[in-house]
Amino acid sequence: MTIKAFGANSAEQPLASMNITRRTPGAHDVQIDIAFCGICHSDIHQVRSEWAGTLYPCVPGHEIVGRVSAVGEHVADFKKGDLVGIGCIVDSCKHCEECGEGLENYCDNMIGTYNFPTPDAPGHTLGGYSQKIVVHERYVLRIRHAEEQLAAVAPLLCAGITTWSPLRHWQAGPGKKVGIVGIGGLGHMGIKLAHAMGAHVVAFTTSEAKREMAKALGADEVVVSKQPDEMAGHIKSFDLIVNTVAAPHELDAFLTLLKRDGTMTLVGAPASPHPAPEVFNLIFKRRSLAGSMIGGIPETQEMLDFCARHNIVADIEMIRADEINEAYERMLKGDVKYRFVMDTSTL
Ligand code: NAP
Ligand code: ZN
Repeated sequence: MTIKAFGANSAEQPLASMNITRRTPGAHDVQIDIAFCGICHSDIHQVRSEWAGTLYPCVPGHEIVGRVSAVGEHVADFKKGDLVGIGCIVDSCKHCEECGEGLENYCDNMIGTYNFPTPDAPGHTLGGYSQKIVVHERYVLRIRHAEEQLAAVAPLLCAGITTWSPLRHWQAGPGKKVGIVGIGGLGHMGIKLAHAMGAHVVAFTTSEAKREMAKALGADEVVVSKQPDEMAGHIKSFDLIVNTVAAPHELDAFLTLLKRDGTMTLVGAPASPHPAPEVFNLIFKRRSLAGSMIGGIPETQEMLDFCARHNIVADIEMIRADEINEAYERMLKGDVKYRFVMDTSTL
């Protein structure tokens, strides 16, 4: 079927309206009428070819929510009308150790929601800035929030799970001091989730203007990272730091804030490398510098259910499809509180 989407035909061109096709649902497929799609900084990195290997036309979007509009004959768990979400993963090998453990995000053959190979036209996956998507049932998430929260649930599908997964893996919770670096789409979800898990949360921002707002998100303390005296007040004190910053920066300033055996995990994925950290900041105090990529399907469902129980959603600003290029420029200036969400009925 032919549907409307918003995408780009090259790295230099702005996003524009285009027609794309979706496959007819197979026996295990779920077809979703997309209601809203969150705008992730990864969308900008990909569509502008800041990361290597962008395939065009490129239709970004991996924070997808909507209603099931058709299911294949073997689909048992979803039916027409269900509220569902699709995150960053639309397929994987289903047989490897990672898939077996529900960590499809680390499958060597994971297929991302956009820019990954597929037998469907045009030969690579096309994302959620579109009216419909057809996905194997294994990668469809159930949404248990109230329907009126649907738009604000969309960012949980990437920003939520990308911060939830490391917070769980490194056991954020009561008695733990957790830092969240960068208060953007990912960072604001990290603050909300770490707070709900019971950790003592310190938000790090480069923006003085976000100081008070971060407290409203659930941060116990806020540090403006450009102020050396404020940073010094937290030396050797963190169990875990989740760094969401989308640009290269000095990691040492944060590594020195970890206590013995503390970990800083990078989730921000800038297009060019960070300056190499000072080795002595790691070997003294046996600190770890780690990375983490989105999350598996079972833990994404666990996060969505946790958020439904705790009434957690993203703070969003709704845009029309034709406002996407302006939204990207505003994101690059840090001018969004804290996630743009596209109303796909405007496509
Ligand atoms: P975002 O909304 O643009 O937020 C990034 C935040 O980083 C900004 O709000 C800003 O916070 C801070 N920042 C500081 N200096 C910056 C600079 N020079 N340029 C840009 N940001 C700067 O981005 P996002 O959607 O949260 O994504 C953050 C990063 O995570 C991106 O690189 C994205 O590709 C990556 N990502 C990774 C995964 C994964 O699986 N690991 C998943 C999704 C996204 P302050 O104003 O508070 O300083
Ligand atoms: Zn994302």
